[in-house]
Amino acid sequence: MNSKTVLHAVIGDPIAHSKSPLMMNRAFLELGLNSAYAAFHVSPGQLPAAIAGVRAFGLRGLNVTIPHKEAVLPLLDELDESARMIGAVNTIVNENGVLRGYNTDGIGYVRSLEEETGIELSGKTVAVIGAGGAARAIVYALAKRGVAQIWLVNRTLARAEELTQHFSQICSIGVLSLEQLPAHGHALDLLVNTTSVGMSPDVEQCPLQDLNWIDENIIISDLIYNPRVTKLMRLAAERGAKTHGGLGMLVYQGACAFEYWTGMPAPVQVMWQAVTE
Ligand code: NAP
Repeated sequence: MNSKTVLHAVIGDPIAHSKSPLMMNRAFLELGLNSAYAAFHVSPGQLPAAIAGVRAFGLRGLNVTIPHKEAVLPLLDELDESARMIGAVNTIVNENGVLRGYNTDGIGYVRSLEEETGIELSGKTVAVIGAGGAARAIVYALAKRGVAQIWLVNRTLARAEELTQHFSQICSIGVLSLEQLPAHGHALDLLVNTTSVGMSPDVEQCPLQDLNWIDENIIISDLIYNPRVTKLMRLAAERGAKTHGGLGMLVYQGACAFEYWTGMPAPVQVMWQAVTE
C-alpha cells in the first residue's frame, strides 16, 4: 500500500467471520491493481458516521452486510434499479463523491446458478422458499432473467403475499403453501431455498418435509453455504435432482461488486479459490 492505493471495505455487525477481504484482496492482487479491501465492525448507531467516513476518506467502494443493507438506503445519493426494487443495498460505488447503491446479491446468485448448472432461465417455472431479504434479491434477478412463473412458499403467509404484490409489476408471481407445493412439483424447473433452515449448526433440518415429488427434472438450489451440502441438497441428489449450493452466490455477488468498482472482469476463479481455502 502507498499513498495512491484505492481503498474498499465491507461494513457489518458482526463482521469478523467475513470472507470478503480474503476474496477481494486476492482479486486485486491477481489483476495487479494498487487496491486494498478491509473489514470494519460498524454498529447500527454508527452507520451514518461510517458513510460520512466513506465520503471523507474517499473510499472507492463499500460492501454492506447485515444489519445495514436496508438502513443505508437514505444515506446514499443515488440508487440503481436493483437496489430500489429489492429495497436493500450491498454494494456502494463512490463516483467522485457521489455514492450510488447497488444490490448484487440477486444477479450474483443468477450468475452462479447459470455458470454451475447450465440452466437457461428464460421461460422457466421456479419455486422460492422464504420471503426475507435474500428472497427479494433472488426474485428480482429471476424476473429480470425472464422466468415465466415464480411461486413463493413461506412460513409467514402475509410476508409472502407482500413480496408477491411488490414484484407482480415485473413478473408472474403467486403464493403456495408448503402443503400445495408437491402438487405443483412436476411443473417446476428450479426450487430455491432462501431460508436459513439447514444452516450450521442445525444441519439436520430441512425446509421441505415431503420430497417424494422431486426427480431428475428439477434443480434444487440452496443459498446456504455452511455446510456446503445441506440436508435438502443431499436428499434431492439421492432422488436424482441436480443440486446447487450457496458458495457461488457469495463469490459472484463479490465479482459483480468488483466489476462495478474497477470496470474490469472479476478474476472469478481465484476468488473461488480464496473462499474455499
Ligand atoms: P431473513 O430476511 O431473516 O429471512 C429469513 C427467511 O427464512 C424468512 O422467510 C423466514 O420465514 C424463513 N425462516 C427462518 N427460519 C425458519 C424456520 N425455522 N422455518 C421456516 N422458515 C424459516 O434472512 P435473509 O437475509 O433472507 O437470509 C436467508 C438465508 O440466505 C440465510 O441462510 C443466509 O445465510 C442466506 N444467504 C446466503 C447468501 C449467499 O451469498 N450464499 C447471501 C444472502 C443470504 P418467516 O417470514 O416466516 O419468518
